[in-house]
Amino acid sequence: MSRVYNFSAGPSMLPEEVLKKAAAEMLDYEGSGQSVMEMSHRSKVYESIIKGAESLLRELMNIPENYKVLFLQGGASTQFAAIPLNFMNGSGKADFIITGQWAKKAFSEAQKYGDCVAVASSADKTFSYIPKTTKDDFRKDADYVYICLNNTIYGTIHHQLPDTGDIPLIADISSCFLSEPLDVTKFAMVYGGAQKNVAPAGLTICIIREDLLGKARDITPTMLNYQIHADNASLYNTPPCYTIYICKLVLEWIKSIGGLEAMAERNRKKAKILYDFLDNSKMFKGTVVPEDRSLMNVPFVTDSEELNAKFIKEATEAGFVNLKGHITDVVMRASSYNAMPVEGVEKLVQFMADFEKANS
Ligand SMILES: *Cc1c(COP(=O)(O)O)cnc(C)c1O
Repeated sequence: MSRVYNFSAGPSMLPEEVLKKAAAEMLDYEGSGQSVMEMSHRSKVYESIIKGAESLLRELMNIPENYKVLFLQGGASTQFAAIPLNFMNGSGKADFIITGQWAKKAFSEAQKYGDCVAVASSADKTFSYIPKTTKDDFRKDADYVYICLNNTIYGTIHHQLPDTGDIPLIADISSCFLSEPLDVTKFAMVYGGAQKNVAPAGLTICIIREDLLGKARDITPTMLNYQIHADNASLYNTPPCYTIYICKLVLEWIKSIGGLEAMAERNRKKAKILYDFLDNSKMFKGTVVPEDRSLMNVPFVTDSEELNAKFIKEATEAGFVNLKGHITDVVMRASSYNAMPVEGVEKLVQFMADFEKANS
C-alpha cells in the first residue's frame, strides 16, 4: 500500500491512525454487532458517540458552558443563509469584511435578507492581504459583523480579530478549525464545514453563544433554525452519524498528541518550512504578504505558466497530489491541515528544490 501526500484544500487528509481505527471498527463497533453506519441515531450506543464528540470538542477548544455546539448538515455554504435568518433580527443590518470567495458568497447570500455592507475588502490586490479596520468602520446598530477567519483559497488569516466593540462577531472557521487554540469567547458564533480539518464531508459544526438564539425570523426554515437544533441536541432529524463518529476519532487523535497547543506547534513548523523555502527560492514565490499568511493554505507561483504546469504534473507523479490552486485565480497551493505529517511538507520542499535546480 502506498499513500500519497494529499495537499488538497478540502476534502483533505485524515490521520492514518483514525482511518485504521475506523477500519478495525467497521463491521462491529464496540461489540454492538454493527457498523456505526448502520445503527440508529437514537440508540444508546450512538448517543455515546455524539455526546462524546461534543464533550471532546468542548474540552479541546475550551468552549464555555454558555455556547451551544451543533452538529449539522448542508456544509458551510448553508450557514451563509442560516446566519442572516437567525441573527439579522434587530436593525436588519450586517457588516462584512471581504477577504475572498467565501466571504463574498456569505455576503451575497445575506444580502437577500437585509441591509449588508462590505466594510472593507482586499479584492484590489487579489485578496493577498487582510484589510485593516477600526471600530468606527462598523455600523453601531449592525446585528453582527461577519468575517472568514482563514481564507482557504488565497491563504490569508486574520491573525488579529477586528475590533467590533459590542457588535457580535461571527466567523467562518472552516479551514482553520482545530488548527491552533482559538478564544471562542471573542465570537458570538464560529462555524465550519468539517471536511478541511475535522472529519469527512457532510458535517458542519456551529458553536453559538446561547443568548443569540431564539430570535430567528418567522420565515426561517425549521432545518435552518439553530434554536430547533439546540433544543434537540443536534438530533431533531437524522444527523450525519458516521461523519460525527469520524469527527470523534479525530478529536481523540488531537487530544492524544497534546491538544491544540501541540497541533499549533506542528502546524507552525510545517508552515515555516514552506514559507522559508518560498522566501529563498528564485523560482517559486508565495503570493501573500508575510504578516497575513495562513498556517493551513500556502499559495505560490512561478513566473512561467509552462513551469507551473510542469511542476504540478511532476509533483503529482511523485505522489504530492492536489497542488493545483483554486479554479478562480490561485495557481498553486499547498494545504497542510492537521493530518499532514511534517515529513510530507519536508519532502515536498525537497521536491520543489530539486525541481528548481533541474529547471533553471
Ligand atoms: C470550503 C469552505 C467553505 C465551503 O464549505 P462547504 O462545506 O463546501 O459548503 C466555506 N468557507 C470556507 C472558509 C471554506 O474553506
